Amino acid sequence: MKNIRLRLISYLVIAYMLVAFSWWSVLLYIKNKDAFNAKSEYLQLVMAAERSIDSRATFLETAEYKDLHKKYKRQEWMIFGEASVFIFSLIIGIYMINRGYNKEMIAAQQRRNFLLSITHELKSPIASIRLVLETILKRSLKEEQINHFGSSALKETDRLNDLVNNLLLAAKIETAYQPVLEEIELNAFLKDICDTMREKFPKAQISFQSSTDYTIIEGDQMGLTSIAVNLIENAIKYSTEVAIIDIQLREKNKKIFLNFTDNGIGIPEQEKKRIFEQFYRIGNEDTRKTKGTGLGLYIVAQIVKAHEGKIEVRDNPTGGSVFKIEMPLQQANIQKNVQTF
Ligand code: ADP
Repeated sequence: MKNIRLRLISYLVIAYMLVAFSWWSVLLYIKNKDAFNAKSEYLQLVMAAERSIDSRATFLETAEYKDLHKKYKRQEWMIFGEASVFIFSLIIGIYMINRGYNKEMIAAQQRRNFLLSITHELKSPIASIRLVLETILKRSLKEEQINHFGSSALKETDRLNDLVNNLLLAAKIETAYQPVLEEIELNAFLKDICDTMREKFPKAQISFQSSTDYTIIEGDQMGLTSIAVNLIENAIKYSTEVAIIDIQLREKNKKIFLNFTDNGIGIPEQEKKRIFEQFYRIGNEDTRKTKGTGLGLYIVAQIVKAHEGKIEVRDNPTGGSVFKIEMPLQQANIQKNVQTF
């Protein structure tokens, strides 16, 4: 409300400036014309007295009049030019203010969403773990039940751990992320990740295909793991049915092409670029059902960028999305073996 009032006041001030300046410009134009008419009348009188110029037509042909008229026209153009520059600058100013304001509003909304989601993400595993511990302490349970409750509490601590890791990673990426490069054989690396994810999400159908048997890439192991894990977890999270995730690796012209295809809910065209922004989540936090912080794809995009690569998202023709990553096999511009991450 305060923001809207401030915006309204600034628009009123700008509108007042525009009207006032236009009025002053018109006034200046009229005064300039009046001054010219007065000067030319005076000149005609003087010339009539000196050289006995008898008609207006003869006066209009004199060099003195033409000079005066030229000066008048120049001043008229000056008034017109300055007024246009001022109005143009003012319009640019309004546009910039408006753009800045909108950006600030969106950033504030995203921060609000982030706080809401992070509070929820932190509170719900803590509440579950607390409940498990209370149950174990208050009741005498069989070993079987303790195992069951224990493993669910363990899952929740894993969730908390993942969340904190993601937060730390996002903070690091923003300040000083430098990939620690090592040679990684991508086929084995991705197969390992798929196995781990299959264990974690037994219902999901995760497949991996590769056009090569052996592809060595220079990359940051932790960073590349984060890319694959985030994309697979998102594919599962944003699926309404059994998630089918197909990972494809291709190597061509000293580059790798990695596709993560899912059969999920898909991503609307206008959101495709924005989902890689920090804290950005599609929809509204108050009505959204899925958990998240809007950091996953930001982290993925930043790690891909740090590996001199590109990421984009397309529609899967059969429904869902395809996240496409392109990365060079070797990192030309990154200092090798720098341990800053
Ligand atoms: P989070 O999952 O924590 O919300 P992300 O940065 O990982 O944050 O994703 C940003 C948004 O992009 C998500 O909120 C979701 O709306 C959308 N999204 C990401 N991955 C997928 C996917 N595979 N299918 C559909 N929507 C997705």
